[in-house]
Amino acid sequence: MTIQILPARLANQIAAGEVVERPASVVKELVENSIDAGATRIDIDIEKGGAKLIRIRDNGSGISKDELQLALSRHATSKIACLDDLESIVSLGFRGEALASISSVARLTLTSRTVTQSEAWSAYAEGREMDVKIKPAAHPVGTTVEVVDLFFNTPARRKFLRTEKTEFGHIDELIKRIALSRFDVAITLRHNGTIVRQYRAASNRAQQERRLSAICGAAFVRHAAEVTLDHHGLTLSGWICTPEGARNQNDVQHCFVNKRMMKDKLINHAIRQGYETSLKADQFAAYVLFIEIDPSQVDVNVHPAKHEVRFQQARLVHDFIYQAVSDALSQVASDVQPELPD
Ligand code: ADP
Ligand code: MG
Repeated sequence: MTIQILPARLANQIAAGEVVERPASVVKELVENSIDAGATRIDIDIEKGGAKLIRIRDNGSGISKDELQLALSRHATSKIACLDDLESIVSLGFRGEALASISSVARLTLTSRTVTQSEAWSAYAEGREMDVKIKPAAHPVGTTVEVVDLFFNTPARRKFLRTEKTEFGHIDELIKRIALSRFDVAITLRHNGTIVRQYRAASNRAQQERRLSAICGAAFVRHAAEVTLDHHGLTLSGWICTPEGARNQNDVQHCFVNKRMMKDKLINHAIRQGYETSLKADQFAAYVLFIEIDPSQVDVNVHPAKHEVRFQQARLVHDFIYQAVSDALSQVASDVQPELPD
Protein backbone atom coordinates (compact mmCIF):
# COMPACT_ATOMS: atom_id res chain seq x y z
CA MET A 1 0.00 0.00 0.00
CA THR A 2 1.14 3.52 -0.67
CA ILE A 3 1.07 6.18 1.99
CA GLN A 4 -1.87 8.55 1.72
CA ILE A 5 -3.61 11.16 3.82
CA LEU A 6 -6.90 9.91 5.21
CA PRO A 7 -10.11 11.70 4.23
CA ALA A 8 -11.22 14.18 6.93
CA ARG A 9 -14.21 12.11 8.03
CA LEU A 10 -12.14 8.97 8.54
CA ALA A 11 -9.43 10.84 10.43
CA ASN A 12 -12.12 12.34 12.64
CA GLN A 13 -13.75 8.96 13.20
CA ILE A 14 -10.44 7.57 14.38
CA ALA A 15 -9.99 10.49 16.75
CA ALA A 16 -13.60 10.04 17.91
CA GLY A 17 -12.61 6.61 19.19
CA GLU A 18 -10.81 8.31 22.07
CA VAL A 19 -13.46 10.77 23.20
CA VAL A 20 -16.81 9.46 22.02
CA GLU A 21 -17.25 6.20 23.82
CA ARG A 22 -21.00 6.37 24.40
CA PRO A 23 -23.87 8.89 24.50
CA ALA A 24 -22.76 10.20 27.89
CA SER A 25 -19.37 11.17 26.46
CA VAL A 26 -21.12 13.22 23.77
CA VAL A 27 -23.23 14.94 26.41
CA LYS A 28 -20.11 15.68 28.46
CA GLU A 29 -18.32 17.36 25.57
CA LEU A 30 -21.34 19.41 24.57
CA VAL A 31 -22.32 20.55 28.05
CA GLU A 32 -18.72 21.50 28.75
CA ASN A 33 -18.77 23.60 25.59
CA SER A 34 -21.92 25.34 26.85
CA ILE A 35 -20.25 26.07 30.18
CA ASP A 36 -17.13 27.37 28.44
CA ALA A 37 -19.42 29.67 26.43
CA GLY A 38 -20.65 31.21 29.70
CA ALA A 39 -24.13 29.69 29.58
CA THR A 40 -26.30 30.14 32.66
CA ARG A 41 -28.94 27.75 31.45
CA ILE A 42 -28.53 24.45 29.64
CA ASP A 43 -31.40 22.29 28.42
CA ILE A 44 -30.66 18.71 27.55
CA ASP A 45 -33.02 16.52 25.56
CA ILE A 46 -32.30 12.83 25.20
CA GLU A 47 -34.20 10.23 23.24
CA LYS A 48 -33.67 6.50 23.52
CA GLY A 49 -30.73 6.76 25.89
CA GLY A 50 -29.02 9.18 23.50
CA ALA A 51 -28.72 6.70 20.62
CA LYS A 52 -31.59 8.43 18.80
CA LEU A 53 -31.14 12.03 19.88
CA ILE A 54 -28.95 14.24 22.05
CA ARG A 55 -29.89 17.91 21.95
CA ILE A 56 -28.11 20.51 24.06
CA ARG A 57 -29.40 24.06 24.04
CA ASP A 58 -27.64 26.89 25.85
CA ASN A 59 -27.83 30.64 26.31
CA GLY A 60 -24.08 31.15 26.03
CA SER A 61 -22.12 33.49 23.80
CA GLY A 62 -22.94 31.66 20.57
CA ILE A 63 -20.76 31.16 17.49
CA SER A 64 -20.75 33.70 14.70
CA LYS A 65 -21.86 32.67 11.23
CA ASP A 66 -18.37 32.87 9.78
CA GLU A 67 -16.93 30.62 12.48
CA LEU A 68 -19.49 27.82 12.26
CA GLN A 69 -17.48 25.96 9.67
CA LEU A 70 -14.31 26.25 11.73
CA ALA A 71 -16.08 25.08 14.88
CA LEU A 72 -16.81 21.79 13.11
CA SER A 73 -13.23 21.31 11.93
CA ARG A 74 -10.66 19.28 13.73
CA HIS A 75 -8.04 21.13 15.82
CA ALA A 76 -10.14 24.28 15.70
CA THR A 77 -10.59 25.95 19.06
CA SER A 78 -11.13 29.43 20.43
CA LYS A 79 -9.74 28.41 23.81
CA ILE A 80 -6.00 28.22 23.29
CA ALA A 81 -3.67 29.71 20.71
CA CYS A 82 -0.22 28.63 21.88
CA LEU A 83 1.54 26.21 24.20
CA ASP A 84 1.73 28.80 26.96
CA ASP A 85 -2.06 29.00 27.01
CA LEU A 86 -2.16 25.32 27.82
CA GLU A 87 -0.21 26.13 30.98
CA SER A 88 -2.87 28.49 32.20
CA ILE A 89 -5.97 26.77 30.93
CA VAL A 90 -9.19 27.79 32.63
CA SER A 91 -11.69 26.41 30.11
CA LEU A 92 -12.90 22.82 30.17
CA GLY A 93 -12.14 22.30 26.49
CA PHE A 94 -8.97 23.08 24.53
CA ARG A 95 -8.38 20.18 22.14
CA GLY A 96 -10.69 21.41 19.39
CA GLU A 97 -11.76 17.88 18.62
CA ALA A 98 -15.21 17.28 20.09
CA LEU A 99 -17.46 18.77 17.43
CA ALA A 100 -15.39 17.33 14.57
CA SER A 101 -15.27 13.92 16.22
CA ILE A 102 -18.96 13.77 17.08
CA SER A 103 -20.06 14.99 13.65
CA SER A 104 -18.02 12.23 12.04
CA VAL A 105 -19.94 9.50 13.90
CA ALA A 106 -23.46 11.01 13.99
CA ARG A 107 -25.68 13.50 12.18
CA LEU A 108 -24.72 16.71 13.95
CA THR A 109 -26.35 20.09 13.43
CA LEU A 110 -24.91 23.17 15.04
CA THR A 111 -27.26 26.15 15.32
CA SER A 112 -26.13 29.38 16.86
CA ARG A 113 -26.58 33.08 17.20
CA THR A 114 -24.29 35.65 18.77
CA VAL A 115 -25.50 38.82 20.41
CA THR A 116 -24.32 40.95 17.47
CA GLN A 117 -26.22 38.91 14.88
CA SER A 118 -29.87 39.55 14.12
CA GLU A 119 -30.40 36.04 12.83
CA ALA A 120 -29.20 32.53 13.61
CA TRP A 121 -27.39 30.08 11.35
CA SER A 122 -27.25 26.35 11.21
CA ALA A 123 -24.33 24.20 10.06
CA TYR A 124 -23.72 20.54 9.41
CA ALA A 125 -20.87 18.59 7.89
CA GLU A 126 -21.35 16.04 5.14
CA GLY A 127 -19.36 13.78 2.85
CA ARG A 128 -15.89 12.29 3.08
CA GLU A 129 -14.26 15.66 3.42
CA MET A 130 -16.94 16.89 5.81
CA ASP A 131 -17.85 19.91 3.70
CA VAL A 132 -19.87 22.29 5.84
CA LYS A 133 -23.30 23.48 4.68
CA ILE A 134 -24.71 26.60 6.27
CA LYS A 135 -28.30 27.84 6.21
CA PRO A 136 -30.43 30.39 8.08
CA ALA A 137 -32.26 29.26 11.21
CA ALA A 138 -34.40 30.55 14.07
CA HIS A 139 -32.64 30.62 17.44
CA PRO A 140 -32.19 33.05 20.34
CA VAL A 141 -28.67 34.11 21.37
CA GLY A 142 -26.83 30.92 22.28
CA THR A 143 -26.23 27.55 20.72
CA THR A 144 -28.06 24.30 20.09
CA VAL A 145 -26.20 21.17 19.10
CA GLU A 146 -28.33 18.33 17.87
CA VAL A 147 -26.80 14.87 17.54
CA VAL A 148 -28.99 12.32 15.80
CA ASP A 149 -28.35 8.60 15.25
CA LEU A 150 -25.09 8.29 17.14
CA PHE A 151 -22.70 5.75 15.59
CA PHE A 152 -25.02 5.20 12.59
CA ASN A 153 -21.93 4.88 10.38
CA THR A 154 -19.66 3.08 12.85
CA PRO A 155 -21.45 -0.24 13.48
CA ALA A 156 -18.61 -1.57 15.61
CA ARG A 157 -19.22 1.22 18.11
CA ARG A 158 -22.97 1.04 17.87
CA LYS A 159 -22.81 -2.61 18.88
CA PHE A 160 -21.32 -1.63 22.22
CA LEU A 161 -24.25 0.56 23.19
CA ARG A 162 -26.09 -0.86 26.19
CA THR A 163 -29.80 -0.65 26.87
CA GLU A 164 -31.59 2.68 26.73
CA LYS A 165 -31.89 2.62 30.51
CA THR A 166 -28.17 1.98 31.07
CA GLU A 167 -27.06 4.65 28.61
CA PHE A 168 -29.46 7.18 30.10
CA GLY A 169 -28.20 6.21 33.56
CA HIS A 170 -24.69 7.21 32.51
CA ILE A 171 -25.98 10.55 31.24
CA ASP A 172 -27.91 11.17 34.45
CA GLU A 173 -24.82 10.45 36.57
CA LEU A 174 -22.74 12.76 34.41
CA ILE A 175 -25.26 15.59 34.70
CA LYS A 176 -25.30 15.17 38.47
CA ARG A 177 -21.55 15.71 38.54
CA ILE A 178 -21.75 18.70 36.26
CA ALA A 179 -24.60 20.13 38.35
CA LEU A 180 -22.33 19.81 41.42
CA SER A 181 -19.47 21.54 39.63
CA ARG A 182 -21.57 24.58 38.71
CA PHE A 183 -24.28 25.49 41.18
CA ASP A 184 -24.80 28.75 39.29
CA VAL A 185 -25.98 27.08 36.07
CA ALA A 186 -29.61 25.99 35.64
CA ILE A 187 -29.82 22.56 34.00
CA THR A 188 -32.81 20.62 32.74
CA LEU A 189 -32.55 17.00 31.64
CA ARG A 190 -35.34 15.36 29.65
CA HIS A 191 -35.59 11.76 28.51
CA ASN A 192 -38.10 10.80 25.83
CA GLY A 193 -39.95 14.07 26.38
CA THR A 194 -40.26 13.82 30.17
CA ILE A 195 -38.34 16.08 32.54
CA VAL A 196 -36.14 13.80 34.65
CA ARG A 197 -34.02 16.42 36.45
CA GLN A 198 -34.38 20.09 36.96
CA TYR A 199 -31.55 21.83 38.74
CA ARG A 200 -32.38 25.47 39.30
CA ALA A 201 -29.59 27.99 39.56
CA ALA A 202 -28.48 28.07 43.19
CA SER A 203 -26.89 31.24 44.48
CA ASN A 204 -27.52 31.21 48.23
CA ARG A 205 -26.68 28.55 50.75
CA ALA A 206 -30.18 27.15 51.14
CA GLN A 207 -30.50 26.70 47.37
CA GLN A 208 -27.09 25.08 47.22
CA GLU A 209 -27.99 22.63 49.96
CA ARG A 210 -31.20 21.81 48.11
CA ARG A 211 -29.23 20.92 44.99
CA LEU A 212 -26.69 19.00 47.06
CA SER A 213 -29.49 17.07 48.71
CA ALA A 214 -31.20 16.34 45.38
CA ILE A 215 -27.97 14.92 43.99
CA CYS A 216 -26.22 13.30 46.95
CA GLY A 217 -29.21 12.53 49.14
CA ALA A 218 -30.61 14.07 52.32
CA ALA A 219 -28.51 11.74 54.47
CA PHE A 220 -25.31 13.13 52.98
CA VAL A 221 -26.34 16.72 53.74
CA ARG A 222 -27.34 15.72 57.27
CA HIS A 223 -23.94 14.20 57.98
CA ALA A 224 -21.87 16.66 55.97
CA ALA A 225 -19.14 18.74 57.52
CA GLU A 226 -18.01 21.78 55.62
CA VAL A 227 -14.40 21.87 54.51
CA THR A 228 -12.43 25.01 53.82
CA LEU A 229 -8.71 25.47 53.69
CA ASP A 230 -6.70 28.09 51.91
CA HIS A 231 -2.95 27.89 51.76
CA HIS A 232 -0.56 29.67 49.40
CA GLY A 233 -3.07 29.89 46.59
CA LEU A 234 -4.27 26.33 46.98
CA THR A 235 -7.83 26.16 48.23
CA LEU A 236 -10.12 23.35 49.16
CA SER A 237 -13.82 23.73 49.83
CA GLY A 238 -16.91 21.59 49.88
CA TRP A 239 -18.48 18.94 52.06
CA ILE A 240 -17.32 15.71 53.56
CA CYS A 241 -19.42 13.27 55.58
CA THR A 242 -18.63 12.57 59.21
CA PRO A 243 -17.78 8.93 60.07
CA GLU A 244 -21.46 8.43 61.03
CA GLY A 245 -22.41 9.29 57.47
CA ALA A 246 -19.97 6.83 55.89
CA ARG A 247 -21.49 4.68 53.17
CA ASN A 248 -21.23 1.07 52.14
CA GLN A 249 -20.42 2.04 48.56
CA ASN A 250 -18.39 4.74 46.85
CA ASP A 251 -21.40 6.40 45.21
CA VAL A 252 -20.93 9.89 46.65
CA GLN A 253 -17.33 10.74 45.86
CA HIS A 254 -17.08 13.84 43.75
CA CYS A 255 -13.94 15.82 43.32
CA PHE A 256 -13.37 18.81 41.08
CA VAL A 257 -10.11 20.50 40.21
CA ASN A 258 -10.66 24.03 38.95
CA LYS A 259 -14.31 23.02 38.36
CA ARG A 260 -13.28 20.08 36.20
CA MET A 261 -14.65 16.73 37.34
CA MET A 262 -11.96 14.16 37.82
CA LYS A 263 -11.06 10.85 39.33
CA ASP A 264 -7.84 10.68 41.20
CA LYS A 265 -6.33 7.99 43.40
CA LEU A 266 -4.06 10.46 45.14
CA ILE A 267 -6.96 12.61 46.29
CA ASN A 268 -9.04 9.63 47.33
CA HIS A 269 -6.13 8.30 49.34
CA ALA A 270 -5.59 11.65 51.05
CA ILE A 271 -9.25 11.90 51.98
CA ARG A 272 -9.35 8.40 53.39
CA GLN A 273 -6.27 9.13 55.47
CA GLY A 274 -7.97 12.23 56.80
CA TYR A 275 -10.47 9.96 58.56
CA GLU A 276 -7.59 8.36 60.47
CA THR A 277 -9.04 5.13 61.86
CA SER A 278 -12.68 6.13 62.02
CA LEU A 279 -13.72 4.39 58.78
CA LYS A 280 -14.08 0.62 58.80
CA ALA A 281 -12.46 -1.35 55.99
CA ASP A 282 -15.82 -1.85 54.25
CA GLN A 283 -16.95 1.76 54.62
CA PHE A 284 -16.55 4.55 52.10
CA ALA A 285 -16.14 8.26 52.60
CA ALA A 286 -18.71 10.51 50.93
CA TYR A 287 -17.57 13.88 49.69
CA VAL A 288 -18.06 16.75 47.29
CA LEU A 289 -14.81 18.66 47.17
CA PHE A 290 -13.51 21.51 45.08
CA ILE A 291 -9.83 22.15 44.67
CA GLU A 292 -8.71 25.43 43.21
CA ILE A 293 -5.11 25.50 42.14
CA ASP A 294 -2.96 27.63 39.90
CA PRO A 295 -3.56 26.13 36.43
CA SER A 296 0.19 26.01 35.79
CA GLN A 297 0.51 23.57 38.70
CA VAL A 298 -1.68 20.97 37.10
CA ASP A 299 -1.58 19.18 33.77
CA VAL A 300 -5.04 18.53 32.36
CA ASN A 301 -3.78 17.19 29.05
CA VAL A 302 -3.17 13.67 30.29
CA HIS A 303 -6.08 11.91 28.64
CA PRO A 304 -8.27 12.84 25.63
CA ALA A 305 -11.45 12.58 27.69
CA LYS A 306 -9.73 14.65 30.42
CA HIS A 307 -10.78 12.36 33.27
CA GLU A 308 -7.39 12.67 34.87
CA VAL A 309 -5.09 15.46 35.88
CA ARG A 310 -1.51 15.42 37.05
CA PHE A 311 -0.34 17.66 39.86
CA GLN A 312 3.12 19.10 39.65
CA GLN A 313 3.50 18.94 43.40
CA ALA A 314 1.54 15.81 44.12
CA ARG A 315 2.85 15.32 47.64
CA LEU A 316 1.96 18.87 48.63
CA VAL A 317 -1.58 18.52 47.28
CA HIS A 318 -1.98 15.18 49.02
CA ASP A 319 -0.89 16.52 52.40
CA PHE A 320 -2.98 19.64 51.98
CA ILE A 321 -6.14 17.61 51.38
CA TYR A 322 -5.32 15.24 54.19
CA GLN A 323 -4.90 18.20 56.55
CA ALA A 324 -8.14 19.89 55.45
CA VAL A 325 -10.19 16.73 55.88
CA SER A 326 -8.58 15.86 59.16
CA ASP A 327 -9.20 19.39 60.51
CA ALA A 328 -12.82 19.44 59.33
CA LEU A 329 -13.58 16.10 60.94
CA SER A 330 -11.93 16.87 64.26
CA GLN A 331 -13.75 20.19 64.31
CA VAL A 332 -17.15 18.46 64.05
CA ALA A 333 -16.10 15.85 66.60
CA SER A 334 -15.27 18.55 69.12
CA ASP A 335 -18.50 20.46 68.37
CA VAL A 336 -20.56 17.46 69.43
CA GLN A 337 -21.10 17.95 73.16
CA PRO A 338 -21.56 14.79 75.19
CA GLU A 339 -25.10 14.65 76.59
CA LEU A 340 -25.09 15.22 80.31
CA PRO A 341 -27.43 13.18 82.48
CA ASP A 342 -30.06 15.39 84.15
P1 ADP B 1 -12.87 22.81 22.23
O1 ADP B 1 -13.99 22.83 23.21
O2 ADP B 1 -11.77 21.91 22.67
O3 ADP B 1 -12.40 24.17 21.84
P2 ADP B 1 -14.85 21.74 20.39
O4 ADP B 1 -14.75 20.92 19.17
O5 ADP B 1 -15.64 21.18 21.54
O6 ADP B 1 -13.39 22.12 20.86
O7 ADP B 1 -15.49 23.14 19.98
C1 ADP B 1 -14.85 23.93 18.99
C2 ADP B 1 -15.13 25.40 19.18
O8 ADP B 1 -16.51 25.67 18.89
C3 ADP B 1 -14.93 25.91 20.60
O9 ADP B 1 -13.58 26.29 20.81
C4 ADP B 1 -15.88 27.10 20.65
O10 ADP B 1 -15.27 28.25 20.12
C5 ADP B 1 -17.00 26.69 19.73
N1 ADP B 1 -18.18 26.15 20.46
C6 ADP B 1 -18.51 24.85 20.60
N2 ADP B 1 -19.65 24.70 21.32
C7 ADP B 1 -20.04 25.95 21.65
C8 ADP B 1 -21.15 26.49 22.39
N3 ADP B 1 -22.09 25.71 22.94
N4 ADP B 1 -21.23 27.84 22.49
C9 ADP B 1 -20.30 28.65 21.94
N5 ADP B 1 -19.22 28.21 21.25
C10 ADP B 1 -19.10 26.88 21.10
MG1 MG C 1 -15.20 21.22 23.63
